[in-house]
Amino acid sequence: MVKIKLNDDLYRYDVYQMFNLFYSFTEIEFTEDIYDFLVIIDNEKIVIKDADGSLEDYFNESINYKEQIKKTIFIYLSEKTKIELPWGTLVGIRPSKIALSLMDSGYSESEIIEYYKKHYFTREDKIKLCIEIAKAEKNIVNTSSEKISIYIGMPFCPSRCLYCSFTSSIGRDEKLVNMYIKALLHEIESIGQYINDKALCIDTIYFGGGTPTAVSDNQFEDVMSHIYKYFADNKNVSEFTVECGRPDSLNENKFLIMKKYGVTRISINPQTMNDESLKKVGRNHTSSDIIEKYNMARDLGFNNINMDLIAALPGEDVNMIEHTCNEIQKLSPDSITVHGLCVKRGSALYENILNNNNNERLPQSEINKMYERTVELSKNLKMKPYYMYRQKNMIGNMENVGYSLTGKEGIYNIQMIEEKQTIISVGANAVTKVVFLDENRIERFANVKDVKEYVNRIDEMINKKIELLNTLY
Ligand code: SF4
Repeated sequence: MVKIKLNDDLYRYDVYQMFNLFYSFTEIEFTEDIYDFLVIIDNEKIVIKDADGSLEDYFNESINYKEQIKKTIFIYLSEKTKIELPWGTLVGIRPSKIALSLMDSGYSESEIIEYYKKHYFTREDKIKLCIEIAKAEKNIVNTSSEKISIYIGMPFCPSRCLYCSFTSSIGRDEKLVNMYIKALLHEIESIGQYINDKALCIDTIYFGGGTPTAVSDNQFEDVMSHIYKYFADNKNVSEFTVECGRPDSLNENKFLIMKKYGVTRISINPQTMNDESLKKVGRNHTSSDIIEKYNMARDLGFNNINMDLIAALPGEDVNMIEHTCNEIQKLSPDSITVHGLCVKRGSALYENILNNNNNERLPQSEINKMYERTVELSKNLKMKPYYMYRQKNMIGNMENVGYSLTGKEGIYNIQMIEEKQTIISVGANAVTKVVFLDENRIERFANVKDVKEYVNRIDEMINKKIELLNTLY
C-alpha cells in the first residue's frame, strides 16, 4: 500500500492518477496520519516529499495548473522508481485525439511533437504514432450530424477468458439467451423505426459482444435478419462488421448467414497462436481451430478479416509472441489489432494479481520487445496504424493499436475512438453516444448491464434513448 498525505482535496484525482502510473496494482490511500509521501500544493508551488528526498516546483503561466502538478509528481516518481513510462503523464484513453485536433488547428508536425513533450512528457516514438494515426483518420472522421453508426451487443461467450471482466451470463442458459434475443429484436426494431422516421444515414454497423456467434445458428440468423431489415438495408452503409471472436463459436452456416445479410468485415480473434496459452486463459479451442475457421471464411469470400492479438499474456515470453506473429503472417489478414494485456477489476487475472498468485510479471524491457515484434509483423504485412486507444491498468502502461492494409481500416473503430459521430447502441451494457458536433459536446446513455434487468426494463431503455436522441434529431 502507498499512503499519501495531500493538503488540498481538489487535486486528489490528479495526484492519484500519477501515483497509479508508478504503483499500479498497489493500493493507494489518502491519509491524514502516517504517510509515505507528502504532497503540498499552494498558490505558488507544489512540493512532493518522502523519506528519500523532495522536489519543489513553481507554477508558471505557460502551463495549466493541473498539468504542472502531474508533471512534478511524474518527475519525482520517475526518478525514484526508475520506471520509464513512454506516454508520460498522459492517462487518457484517446491520445491520438490531441494530435488530430492540433493538426486541425494548423500545427505542423514538429509543433505537435513539441506540444506533447511540453505538456505530457510523451516519448517521441509514441508522439509519432499519434501523428501517423491522426493522418490516417483525418479523411475518415465524421463531419455530419446526420451520419450515424450502430452498435449491437451480444453478451454471451462460449467460456470466460482469464482477463475478462465481462459479468453477463456466460455459457448456454437457453432460456436466458432466448429472453435476451427477444428483447434485443424489439430494441432493434424500435430504434430502426426511429432512424427511418428521422431519415438518418447509417455509416457503419458493428455487431460485437461478448461473442455474437456464441448463440445457435437459428438465434444468430434471427438477430442478423433483424439487423439487416432495420439497419443494414440502409443504402449508405459503408461497413458492417461482425466480431466473430472465438473460432469455437463458428461454423460454415454462420459464415453463410453473415454473407446473406451483407456483412463486409469480420474479426476472428486468436489473441495468441500458442495452444498452451489459449488453455491457460480459458479458451476452449486450439490454434489449428483458428487456422481452419480463418481459411473457411476466406474460401467463402470474406475479403476483409481482422485478427486481434494480445501482447504480454500471462506466461508468454518473446519467443511465444514470435511464434504467434509468424503464424499470423502466414494467414495474412487484412488488419490486426494488437492489445496490451489489461488487468480489469472483476477478472480472474485481477484476483490472481491481487492475491499474489501471479508470479509471472514481465520486466518492461521484455514487454517492449513483444510490442516491437508486433510492429514488425504489421510492417511485414504492409499495414499501417490507423486507430489507437489506451485502457486503465494495462501491463507495461502501453496501448492498443489497429493496423490495416490501405482501404481495409475498420471505419467504426475510428468513429468510436474519435467521438465525432453519434453511435446508437442496442443490447445489454451498450452505450449510446450522441455527438453534438457544433457544440463539441457528447451525451451518453447506457443500457443496463445485467441481462435479466435488460429484458425486464427494455421499454424504459428504448424510451430514454429516444428521449436523448430527440435532443439532437
Ligand atoms: S471472448 Fe471476449 S468477451 Fe468473451 S470472455 Fe473472452 S474476453 Fe470476454
